[in-house]
Amino acid sequence: MSVRTNYYTAFTLHLATAIAYAAVPTFAWMLRGWYFPVWILICLVGLGISFGFRCRFCDVAITLRPMTFGTKTVLGYTSFPGKRCATCDESLED
Ligand SMILES: [Zn+2]
Repeated sequence: MSVRTNYYTAFTLHLATAIAYAAVPTFAWMLRGWYFPVWILICLVGLGISFGFRCRFCDVAITLRPMTFGTKTVLGYTSFPGKRCATCDESLED
């Protein structure tokens, strides 16, 4: 599996987890005082997913990409990395 496929799998599972955790009241009812600490943990896992998946050639996070706002281009972390690494232009697919 390519790093991009693994990233999108982790991203989708994490998004579904975060939405279910916020929307299903059973979690808050079961966890009581642990509801907020576990929410922080879920957020930290999300940060790990953002920064943890790295290009195998240059070891830069695959989510770090140049983004264009009108006439300006800045580097930023996106949720949707492309098919090629923005730093070394190698393919992120196998
Ligand atoms: Zn790279």
